[in-house]
Amino acid sequence: MTFSEIKALDQGYVLQTYARNQVAIDHGKGATLWDTEGKQYIDFTSGIGVCSLGYANETWAKAIYDQAMKVGHISNLFYTEPYARLASRLAPAAGMAAAFFGNSGAEANEGMIKTARKYSFEKYGQGRATIITLKNSFHGRTITTLKATGQDHFHEYFFPFTEGFRYAAANDMDDLLAVAGDDVCAVMMELIQGEGGVNPLQKDYVQAVAKLCAEKDWLLLIDEVQTGVGRTGTLFAYQQFGIEPDVCTFAKGIAGGLPFGGFLVNEKCRNVLRAGDHGSTFGGNPMAAAAGNVVMDVLTPEFLAAVREKGQYLRDGIAALNSPYVSGIRGMGLMIGVGVQGMTHKELKDKLMAEGLLCLTAGADTLRLLPPLVITKDEIDQGLAIMAKVMK
Ligand SMILES: *Cc1c(COP(=O)(O)O)cnc(C)c1O
Repeated sequence: MTFSEIKALDQGYVLQTYARNQVAIDHGKGATLWDTEGKQYIDFTSGIGVCSLGYANETWAKAIYDQAMKVGHISNLFYTEPYARLASRLAPAAGMAAAFFGNSGAEANEGMIKTARKYSFEKYGQGRATIITLKNSFHGRTITTLKATGQDHFHEYFFPFTEGFRYAAANDMDDLLAVAGDDVCAVMMELIQGEGGVNPLQKDYVQAVAKLCAEKDWLLLIDEVQTGVGRTGTLFAYQQFGIEPDVCTFAKGIAGGLPFGGFLVNEKCRNVLRAGDHGSTFGGNPMAAAAGNVVMDVLTPEFLAAVREKGQYLRDGIAALNSPYVSGIRGMGLMIGVGVQGMTHKELKDKLMAEGLLCLTAGADTLRLLPPLVITKDEIDQGLAIMAKVMK
């Protein structure tokens, strides 16, 4: 089908809930994509941080195929090897005790929130269920995770929302203490606010929050849906902040493109959710877990070092453009935010796309770059050349 034919079907039959780019992607290889009209793009999006192994990775595709030909799905009422293997690799590498597998980031965060509330209920009883989250955060699109998201415009239309969330300004201990109270059971945060504009939290602030949580027996909940699974150059971003969460979530990059999300708990929280407390029909599906095992095979210490190094290379390359449209560069590893001035972030994204470079936006004025973790130096250089053309 041509782009116009696909677009007509989409507009006729699909809920128009996305501000879609005027492109239909057809296929890809590595970090390079082609649209239905044959135009080539360097991809700095990886489908919003999902396609960590890029496109058409043969090992990944074969693992999914092989698993599909053995058993593509069976319910969680049975043990399966890919699920058990993935959990047994992920939890120790993260310094955690045990995993729960679901299908998406919001669902992972729901499970993390349930863990915090049940932990507190069993130990302290009712009335201690409030979770402090940060302003400008993003935690998902379900009714509860919308409310957990610390941005007012997500709290419209869908009333009544789940109760029990209060918001503190990021990097401001005084504000966190000001909204604290006897009803609090947890603090939940992203270490780099992704959708909010690629804003890394300060390390001393994160450590102070972790210390306070330990003192008050509030659970420290880290949303690593975007930052996790190698994106920042370590398996999880918290490993660079010198903290140990009680629960952390992951999703986007974990299965390299198949729907997958979940959470890890530490020893203290291992027995909070028990049989009947939580579940998912599709969660930890054997094909998705097999894909997750391939991602884990790839994320060696050497590979993670290369993610950090390529991220630095890309940030340096953007800085070297000396572009009048750049107000600042932030991020860790291959999660990069470029502050945009002199035009809107959406205008810049569209101009780059016209020249063959796909980027994301975030917050009010940020160009967000989440390339596949396997992107080559050559592909980065091609992307930088397009940026030079558009932004100099
Ligand atoms: C993307 C994202 C989510 C939501 O994930 P879905 O898979 O879309 O439900 C939650 N938290 C963070 C930090 C995210 O980046």
